[in-house]
Amino acid sequence: MFRKQPLLVSTVLLKSTEKLLHSFSRRNVSKRNYLSRMYLLPPSKLRDTGLTSKSQNLFLHNEILFPCHNGAFYYLPLGLRALEKLTRLIDEELQSIGAQKISMPTMVTAALWKKTGRWGTDELFKLKDRHLTEYCLGPTHEELVTSLVAQFERLSYKRFPLMLYQITRKFRDEMQPKFGLLRGREFEMKDLYTFDLDEETARETYSLVCDTYHTIFHRLQLNYMKVEGATGNIGGKMSHEYHLPASIGEDSLFICDKCGFGSNIELIDEQNQSEDVACPQCQSAMKIQTGIEVGHAFLLGTKYSEVLNAKVTNKEGKRITTEMGCYGLGVSRILQAGVEVLHDGESIRWPRLIAPYQVAILPQKSQDSGPFLKLSDELYDRLCSLPSLRHDVVIDDRVDRTIGWRKNQLNRQGFPYIIVVGKKCQEDPAQYELIDTYSGTTDFLSLDQLIDTLSMLHTL
Ligand code: ATP
Ligand code: MG
Repeated sequence: MFRKQPLLVSTVLLKSTEKLLHSFSRRNVSKRNYLSRMYLLPPSKLRDTGLTSKSQNLFLHNEILFPCHNGAFYYLPLGLRALEKLTRLIDEELQSIGAQKISMPTMVTAALWKKTGRWGTDELFKLKDRHLTEYCLGPTHEELVTSLVAQFERLSYKRFPLMLYQITRKFRDEMQPKFGLLRGREFEMKDLYTFDLDEETARETYSLVCDTYHTIFHRLQLNYMKVEGATGNIGGKMSHEYHLPASIGEDSLFICDKCGFGSNIELIDEQNQSEDVACPQCQSAMKIQTGIEVGHAFLLGTKYSEVLNAKVTNKEGKRITTEMGCYGLGVSRILQAGVEVLHDGESIRWPRLIAPYQVAILPQKSQDSGPFLKLSDELYDRLCSLPSLRHDVVIDDRVDRTIGWRKNQLNRQGFPYIIVVGKKCQEDPAQYELIDTYSGTTDFLSLDQLIDTLSMLHTL
């Protein structure tokens, strides 16, 4: 009985692979990424939505996003790929410090939010089921996660600090959605919740997460400002905000260039909100800078764990209330804010690691484009055999368009590398034109040199 099983499985597998291959050829589906087959929308079809920020404009005009309704967007294939890469990067960094990924329901019962006194929050999207039970679409998940941890009565203190996070869609009925993904009514957020045995270790966990935020922004090559923030509606003992400096930023920050201290203007007395506020740490004059808030860290204390009964038995056998922290990253906001600070006016410039694809192969337009398309397919297969580039290459096979038109388009969409497969590739030795669009440099390389250069790329 058992011995026969593998044979059965392999026959079934073989049959299904055959079927798949057959359907590939029948339906003209290829395993290679051809831009001619990708769902991209011509910019002319866009509705006028009163565009307000450069990055939003670039996303809407370059087939990254498509507007849906107020504060909500379709992510087109390129946009979603970038978002997924950003998600992967955050996963890597959080999991490297022991955070565990979970996923919580989108609908949250009103009962929980009433317990913590937050049901009156203006931004909640509220709904009722057929039994008239009230819910809201989760704008953040302190209540749900704390009530989850409260269920594990026998949770050992040895498992602490406990770090649980998710990357999910959040919903907020913002007064004024604007700037595309920067202030949406539904958006992607990474929310991490930490549980510790006492305040001292909770503070250690807080610095560990802040260090991880540093690594994440560093890998994205984004300069950020970390400032003291208000604890607001969430509450807690201490909070820091992470901002990208940008003129369209909605927050005003006091920054001390000398010692690096920063504070959100909300924390400074109204009478003192002038240009010459002295730094509380080194007394130098601080300057005002506007920023886009991309992340937020809170040391919560026991505000939620007390009400929702998230307790643990410590080493001494005593039941104690857990000390919490919560840490948000605006994932979709970072996606667009990164471009807001990096774009060059005309073209999207992604944090390189999260560019939707690293490399676009551009076959020459000619009376017979066949040989260039064939060479491009071969080059594609070769590049995709490199572990780092396996999923990161496209072929822009829209050979009815000129090279110039396509080059321009790919450049505006922020493909970091373009390889032109033109006449020089048919010479002996063949030469490939490699364009680094971000630095604007062009090199003519042999196939081996090209592969060597691209195999060194860092990718996600
Ligand atoms: P803001 O002051 O910009 O409204 P917030 O203080 O309400 O932000 P948090 O509750 O701390 O935000 O949420 C964590 C992160 O989620 C924020 O740092 C931000 O990056 C992101 N975020 C919050 N609201 C939105 C939104 N409407 N659209 C996109 N991202 C958002
Ligand atoms: Mg808000």
